[in-house]
Amino acid sequence: MEIYLDNAATTKIKDEVFEAMEPYLKENYGNASSIYSLGKISRNIVEESRDKVAEILGSKPEEIFFTSSGSEADNWAIKGRAFYMIDKNKHLITSPIEHKAVLESMKYLKKFGFKIDYVKVDKEGFVDLDHLKDLIKEDTSLVSIMYANNEIGTIEPIKKISNILKNKNIAFHVDGVQALPGIEFNLKDLDVDLFSISSHKIGGPKGIGALYKKSGMKIDNLIHGGGQERSKRAGTENVAYIVGFVKALEILDREKSKNIKRVKGMRDYFLDKLLKLNGVYLNGPIENRLPGNINISIDNIDSQFLLILLDKYTIFASSGSACNAGSIAPSHVLKAIGRSDELAKNCLRITIGENNNMNEIIQGSDIIVDTINSLRG
Ligand SMILES: *Cc1c(COP(=O)(O)O)cnc(C)c1O
Repeated sequence: MEIYLDNAATTKIKDEVFEAMEPYLKENYGNASSIYSLGKISRNIVEESRDKVAEILGSKPEEIFFTSSGSEADNWAIKGRAFYMIDKNKHLITSPIEHKAVLESMKYLKKFGFKIDYVKVDKEGFVDLDHLKDLIKEDTSLVSIMYANNEIGTIEPIKKISNILKNKNIAFHVDGVQALPGIEFNLKDLDVDLFSISSHKIGGPKGIGALYKKSGMKIDNLIHGGGQERSKRAGTENVAYIVGFVKALEILDREKSKNIKRVKGMRDYFLDKLLKLNGVYLNGPIENRLPGNINISIDNIDSQFLLILLDKYTIFASSGSACNAGSIAPSHVLKAIGRSDELAKNCLRITIGENNNMNEIIQGSDIIVDTINSLRG
């Protein structure tokens, strides 16, 4: 039996989602910008989908822009805001534990003379709000802090940060990709300017995401071309994927609070078992942590080797983010929270999702505990 424990990397597409997409890959193939009836079918479903996203997230439809991924939404928010302000304010703030889509966008902007500061995080990954206040300058144009960390599950105090930034001419971007399945929230309450989400972390197809952009927030385009997405994001609308994404979002919304409780129950059982082993350390906090996230460092265990052994049992887990997998460099997140190179490398990330059941959790945790014990001789 396959036991998939890497739900932060991606999730299995839901049957209902796949079925909803199919007609838009086959008979309803019209271009949403065409004026004849076949095009109208596509236009109507795209706009209905946008309305649903807005309703579920707590925004206005015109504040939702479909993108090709969560990575694109992050790139667009950061580069779009930075370049819009390039002649005035060139200071940007982020944290050292962001997703690479944020960190690499920031790094790229240095080429254009932007100055980047990184707000300190504590040993559980929470951003230091006093340090953030100290970092804010006259020419700060953007702060980008993720809602929930994909490696260690830390949930950042987004509302407190938006309060700090209130009434300043600073855009607040939040990478909400992991928060979408893991946290019950509403954009109205969070009061942020830019918010990224992705479909494949919630049972939708890969290669589709969205950026929320608050009305009045000005950002440059990232993708230039035709007039799609109210002339802010060129490219023929990916109708079938938009439909799939929004179907996944509707299912998520319906079942979220129930699933969060169930996933957390399975996670706590799994975590208790792992923490009973000697030389196992939890990375990230106990409270204010994503419900399905486990990240541990293990003394004297090569995690790449452990993962290969687990693969033989068709147990799929990871050693950090999927983007870092295969690289031998220790996780930038674990380094930022102060782990030694050794412990940062010897880590195991297990991310439990709603598709898992208690049977898998019992079996999976037994095999992982046995494998660690046997590796230690
Ligand atoms: C997965 C992920 C992304 C990237 O989303 P894609 O749709 O895979 O490009 C960005 N940020 C976080 C926190 C993620 O977990």
